[in-house]
Amino acid sequence: MTTKMPVLFIGHGSPMNIIQDNSYTRSLVALGRSLPKPRAILVISAHWLTKGTFVTCMERPKTIHDFYGFPDELYALRYPSPGSPETARLVMDTVKKVKVTCGKDWGLDHASWAVLKHMYPEADFPVIEMSLAYSFNEWIPKPLQYHYDLAAELSELRKSGVLIIGSGNIVHNLGLLDFENVDAPIFDWAGEFDDKVKASLLSEDHHALIHYQDWGKSAPLAVPTLDHYLPMIYAVALQEKNEPLVFTHEGFQHGSISMRCFKIG
Ligand code: ZN
Repeated sequence: MTTKMPVLFIGHGSPMNIIQDNSYTRSLVALGRSLPKPRAILVISAHWLTKGTFVTCMERPKTIHDFYGFPDELYALRYPSPGSPETARLVMDTVKKVKVTCGKDWGLDHASWAVLKHMYPEADFPVIEMSLAYSFNEWIPKPLQYHYDLAAELSELRKSGVLIIGSGNIVHNLGLLDFENVDAPIFDWAGEFDDKVKASLLSEDHHALIHYQDWGKSAPLAVPTLDHYLPMIYAVALQEKNEPLVFTHEGFQHGSISMRCFKIG
């Protein structure tokens, strides 16, 4: 395999997108069709928070329905892609700065399969997940620079045909979202924060993205907890100097969830 794979960040939003046909889900379908065929897919998931960093290393990852109060139809769905113990081993061997551990108790949560169900509906590519190291003792996540440096080490995998996807949301405030209305007006602070991220991405200002807390009042509202922002940091850490970045989808759902997605390379 000589093709260097692109890197994606996907805003996954509400699990309802799994069964919907909208501009966002259609962008995922188009994206899946446009990319070179991956040897395997590595998803950095906003929904797998652990003490230390793990990768799924089972042959057959189970589908995890990690959402509550949604229609029964969603809980009946499965995403039966194979795992890839070989790719998990490659990740564990490639990352030197921290120990990456084989995670046998997880599977594919909806940060992965909600997205992949549209991109690769046949579930015919092997998928592994990587967790986000959260310090559960103090409930204080590790600094963003820690994650950025860890993610940069994954760069070699791109040359091995691994499609790396960070799956989270740039603006993700569940406390203030308008649950009933997917097209609710965008909160001012939400739009402002999303615009700043967009400008920083376009100018390759990774320093600004790591230090988003300096952006004033919009920052704690847009990123009340780090879990959904962090997968975006993993994606940008893999951007090489002057490597092109394009937005494959822009927009909001429920007023406080940015569905911005991008492709690097
Ligand atoms: Zn989520």
